[in-house]
Amino acid sequence: MNQPPSIFVWDSNFITGIESVDDQHHSLVNLFNNLSAEITRGTWHDTGTVDKLFADLVEYTRYHFAEESRLMCAAKVWPTHIEAHLQAHDDFVAQVETLSSIRHTLVDRPQTIVDFLIAWLGHHILGMDQIMARQIHRIASGESAEHAYLSETDEANRSTKSLLAAIANLYQVVTGLNGSLVTANQRLEQRVATRTAELDLINDQLRVANQRLTILAQTDGLLGIANRSHFDLMLVSEWQRAIRSEYPVALLLIDIDKFKQFNDTYGHLAGDDCLKAVAGAISSCLRRPTDLAARYGGEELAVLLIDTDLAGADDVAQAMCQAIFDLQIPHAGSAHHFVSVSIGVAAITPIPGKAAAKLLAAADGALYRAKNEGRNRIASAQ
Ligand code: GH3
Ligand code: MG
Ligand code: MG
Repeated sequence: MNQPPSIFVWDSNFITGIESVDDQHHSLVNLFNNLSAEITRGTWHDTGTVDKLFADLVEYTRYHFAEESRLMCAAKVWPTHIEAHLQAHDDFVAQVETLSSIRHTLVDRPQTIVDFLIAWLGHHILGMDQIMARQIHRIASGESAEHAYLSETDEANRSTKSLLAAIANLYQVVTGLNGSLVTANQRLEQRVATRTAELDLINDQLRVANQRLTILAQTDGLLGIANRSHFDLMLVSEWQRAIRSEYPVALLLIDIDKFKQFNDTYGHLAGDDCLKAVAGAISSCLRRPTDLAARYGGEELAVLLIDTDLAGADDVAQAMCQAIFDLQIPHAGSAHHFVSVSIGVAAITPIPGKAAAKLLAAADGALYRAKNEGRNRIASAQ
């Protein structure tokens, strides 16, 4: 492949007459031309190569700056010049670091970088370094550092003023461009941060909404206690856990006595209110966080008690029966005159292979007995 022409052509005007500085400038120009050639060749996307050339140029520039600094101090160049010269070096390093960090976001990356480096090389070698070199020569031939500084500043002003001004201007344009790119980048990052915060908030709201939905899906709309499907799931999972942990599971099936007649006498709405009052009385008798009251169907409720034996479940059932009767809701169609319930109680310590349906059947059988034995009472499965 043909080597593309050098972008920055070495010229005798660049020679300072200080051998080490001229050698280093030569190397800088070569490194710069290698990088420009690579970029111009269209291999920008081969980021490994370009990154390496860019890093080489920056590293060599740092070395060169350190050498110049050492040289100026050794020659005792007037401090005002040294100060301005080192400041120019620092500014350049800062600019290159900025350019390096944002170079993947530049619109016209190759052109921007090449323009910046050309401007800087020209500015530096033709300007500052020529002035520095001439001061070093003057000091070497016996002039005072201050006199050398003042005459050179004048001299430079006259001879290369317009050229340097043009290059400095280009340098400023590129510098300004970098500044606005950095600002644009910061704005973009700010927008991403704001958007991320908004998304986090929406996610939190979604999480809360999902939790509410889950609870809604598990709750009976009228009574505000667990619904049948949640009860069925809980019965199966608690049954499995009880098999592993070998403790009894108790079940209460609770049915309102003569409820059809209650509806017939007082109306369906009064029936709904009665059901709610009964559910409230049942909930108020629950003691442990694992106790679960659910609407099993129609006017029939179920209570699941974990790690509870038959005697314990009987006590809870008795308390519920009493609490509902104590509501003293008039019920003309009942032999007990007030709303009452019958409760079937069962407790089983499950073993593998035994289905939870056994517990339901046992409680149902007990409920049937409680009804037959006169209602407003509990009966336990034996
Ligand atoms: P028993 O003492 O034998 O249980 O008699 P019962 O009348 O309570 O039994 P039955 O099963 O014949 O009647 C239950 C009634 O419960 C029938 C139905 O209309 C009523 N019911 C079921 N769900 C609701 C409800 O959500 N609201 C109202 N108001 N009534 C309901
Ligand atoms: Mg019924
Ligand atoms: Mg009933």
